[in-house]
Amino acid sequence: SSALDVAALREDYPVLDREVSDGVPLVYFDNAATTQTPKQVVDSIVDYYYNYNSNVHRGIHQLSQEASVAYEEAHDRIAEFVGASGGREELVFTKNTTESENLVAYSWGLNELGPGDEVVLTEMEHHASLVTWQQIAKKTGATVRYIPIDDDQTLDMDAAKDIIGPDTALVSVVHVSNVLGAINPVSELADLAHEQDALIFVDGAQAVPNRPVDVEAIDADFYAFSAHKMAGPTGVGALYGKKHLLADMEPFTYGGEMINRVTYEDATWADVPWKFEAGTPVISQGIAFAEAADYLDEIGLERIAEHETHVTEYAYERLAEYDDVEVYGPPLGEERGGLVAFNVDGIHAHDLSSILNDHGVAIRAGDHCTQPLHQKMDIAASVRASFYLYNTREEVDALLDGIDDAISIFK
Ligand code: PMP
Repeated sequence: SSALDVAALREDYPVLDREVSDGVPLVYFDNAATTQTPKQVVDSIVDYYYNYNSNVHRGIHQLSQEASVAYEEAHDRIAEFVGASGGREELVFTKNTTESENLVAYSWGLNELGPGDEVVLTEMEHHASLVTWQQIAKKTGATVRYIPIDDDQTLDMDAAKDIIGPDTALVSVVHVSNVLGAINPVSELADLAHEQDALIFVDGAQAVPNRPVDVEAIDADFYAFSAHKMAGPTGVGALYGKKHLLADMEPFTYGGEMINRVTYEDATWADVPWKFEAGTPVISQGIAFAEAADYLDEIGLERIAEHETHVTEYAYERLAEYDDVEVYGPPLGEERGGLVAFNVDGIHAHDLSSILNDHGVAIRAGDHCTQPLHQKMDIAASVRASFYLYNTREEVDALLDGIDDAISIFK
C-alpha cells in the first residue's frame, strides 16, 4: 500500500475534483511538465497580495519591509530545502530551470570558455541545457561532447570516464531524465569532473520535486530546478551555486536592484543573490515557492518518493503486459523516477493522447524537449505519464482503459 494518505492530500487540490471532456473525472498525469498547486501555496500568494504587496529592498515603509523580509527568507528556505548551508548567498531566484541554465552559460560560460575547452553533456539532456551550451560553445569556440546512453537506457559510465578529461571545463547533466526516468549518478559524475578541475552543473528539474536532494552531498557546483514542477507557482525557479563561484561570476542582466554604486561612468555590484536578480524580482512567486517547500517537507520527500515508486511500478508492470506497447527507460528494478514514457505500436503519440483526453487522462505527447534523444531512439514522439503525490493506481487503470480504447479504434 501507499506511503501517503492520498485521499486527504487530494483535498488540497480543488482542480483534481473537476471534470473534463464532457463529464469524465480528470486524471492528471502531466506532472513532469507542471504539477498542480495546493491551496496552501495559492493562499500564500493571496495573503501576499491582500496584505503586504510591495516592492522589495527600496522601501523604508512597513509593507516594503515585510515583503523584503519574506522574499529574502524565501531564498534561505529554498537553499535549506536542497541542503545548501550558505543560505541566500548560494541561492538565486530565476524564472525557471531554463533561465538558471542560461545564467550560468552567460555569466560563467561566455567569460570562461574558449577554443580547446570541452563542455560535456549527456545524450538525455533536455533542450534547456543542450541548446544553451551548444550556442555558448559556438560563441566561445568550445566543443560540446556527449556521454552516450547504454542499451538499457542508463548513462554509460565507462564512456563518461573517457570523455570527462583534461580538456573538460564543465559537465552539465540532468539528474533525473524527463523521458527515460533514469536517475543519473550525479555525485560520481561530480567526482569525475572535479578530478579534472572541471565544474558540474546539475539539472534537477525532475529530481527536487520527488525525492530528497542534497546539493552538498552531491558536491554540485551549480544545481537548477523550477517551482512549478514541485507544487509551487509558475514564474520562479532556483539556481544553487557554490558561494565562491557565484561571488566571482559576472552579472547576467543589468539594471536596478543588482547594483551597489553607480556613476555616469561605471557601476559596482550588489552581493549574491541580488547581483543576479536585476529589476523588480519574482516577489510573490518566491514567497510561494518557499511555501511549497514547507508543504513538501511536511509530507516528507522520502514518503513522496516511495508513493511515486508505488504508482510508477504499477504503471510500468501493467504497460509491459501489452505486446504492442514499448516502454522507454531503464527496466524496473533499476532506480527510476516517477514517470513512464511509451508508445503503442501503430498509433501516433498525438492520436493516443487525444483518445486519452476523451477519457479525462492528461498526458504529454511529443518529444518532451529532447529531440536528439528521440532521434537516437529512432522515434518521432512518445507519450509520457508522469506522477505526483496525489496520483493513484486507480488513475493508472483509467490510463489503461484509454489505451485499450485507442487500440480498439486504431487497430
Ligand atoms: N530540465 C528538465 C529535465 C525538465 O524536465 C524541464 C521541464 N520540462 C526543464 C529542464 C525545463 O524546465 P523549465 O521549463 O521550468 O525551465
